[in-house]
Amino acid sequence: VIIVGAGPAGSAAAITLARAGRDVLIIDSSTFPREKACGDGVLPGAVKVLADLDVLPDLETVSYPAITRMVLHSPSGKQIRMAVKPLQPEHQFIIADRASFDHLLLKKALGLGVEFRRGRVIGLIRSHVSVTGIVLRDSEGTTKLTAHTVIGADGSTSIVRRSLTGVPPPVDSIAIRAHMGPFNHSQDTAEFYFEPDLFPGYAWIFPLGSNRVNIGLGLDIGHHRDQGKTLRARLETFLQRPDIRDRCMPHTKTLSLRTGSYWFTAVHSHPFAFAGALLVGDAAGFMDPLSGEGIRNALLSGKIAGDVLTEAQQKSWSQEKIQATYVQRCEEEIMISLKRSLTWKRWMLNTPRRFNHIVRLFRWCYPITRPLLNTLSTNFQFK
Ligand SMILES: Cc1cc2nc3c(=O)[nH]c(=O)nc-3n(C[C@H](O)[C@H](O)[C@H](O)COP(=O)(O)OP(=O)(O)OC[C@H]3O[C@@H](n4cnc5c(N)ncnc54)[C@H](O)[C@@H]3O)c2cc1C
Repeated sequence: VIIVGAGPAGSAAAITLARAGRDVLIIDSSTFPREKACGDGVLPGAVKVLADLDVLPDLETVSYPAITRMVLHSPSGKQIRMAVKPLQPEHQFIIADRASFDHLLLKKALGLGVEFRRGRVIGLIRSHVSVTGIVLRDSEGTTKLTAHTVIGADGSTSIVRRSLTGVPPPVDSIAIRAHMGPFNHSQDTAEFYFEPDLFPGYAWIFPLGSNRVNIGLGLDIGHHRDQGKTLRARLETFLQRPDIRDRCMPHTKTLSLRTGSYWFTAVHSHPFAFAGALLVGDAAGFMDPLSGEGIRNALLSGKIAGDVLTEAQQKSWSQEKIQATYVQRCEEEIMISLKRSLTWKRWMLNTPRRFNHIVRLFRWCYPITRPLLNTLSTNFQFK
């Protein structure tokens, strides 16, 4: 099996397949450890998949203290403060910087015998309707490599997806994140700012330990273009808010800056299984449209792809059976919650005014809204 992309989705697939004794090559255009535009939030659902992949003990070396509080700032400036506890105590909401986190998962796969090759995949090889390999460009030139199955784990701008569908991924959002420090921030709190000029996007502040934070903006791409400013300028505007500026120290500096783009529209039934090729993680569009969380579904879809291919080999399944089983399992374990998030997003983040009303309502009758939140959340109990 050739896996294109060594992010969480690719490494989860590689770990699963290597444990089943499959011969796996994982290819990435980056040298690891590599940075990635992300909030670095690993939510309880993702931690559960990490436990299933048996990498939980290693995680302690790359993560920071658990998040137990959330603060949500509405467009009108009102706040909701919530204490959260994970559904299962052993699966906490942790923050792990992506350079170390992704490297840890890749090292786990390599330790199980997976081969890594650095290079850029530029296309697929096909025989009739089925994918039979990839075209790789690296320092040695252009090479064709054949495989039983290709797994496209190459993120939101996936070349594998583009080659399979003939169209670029439907990117609809854009983001910037800065690692900064020192910054005065509670090390157990995740904050979200639904500022009027960012809406329906938002800003976040997550703690990174040692008085450092991850501060970022995730924005609708059309809305962003209408503003006529660069991402960096908009982050700077956010950092100049008096309450944010007050939390900086004279020697606070940006330690690293990354931008990225992403999309959420798999819920509109973009295909993610093809003859000889499966898409996982962001390449499949499995990021949650409401929260922007993608690590859980990246890990889970990688694991599902690995499990399905293992069972397929044991039972000599046809390509049709492999595709149908992968789609069905992703529908059950991923798509149902994505569809629900999309419905909530359309309802809640329709206009700043409506969102202000919702926040006011939540604040006003929290004892009633809290159980409602708890029935919706797949990650936490709100206290
Ligand atoms: C700003 C931002 C904040 C986010 N915050 C959070 C958060 O706090 N929590 C959360 O759960 N999710 C968050 N997400 C989503 C999360 O980052 C993604 O869902 C997750 O990284 C998806 O993992 P992946 O393995 O599918 O893809 P990626 O992590 O993007 O990995 C893809 C890999 O493929 C490689 N690649 C790409 N093209 C090629 C090619 N042609 N050839 C070879 N290699 C290639 C890349 O180098 C990369 O290593 C955020 C996303 C953004 C943009």
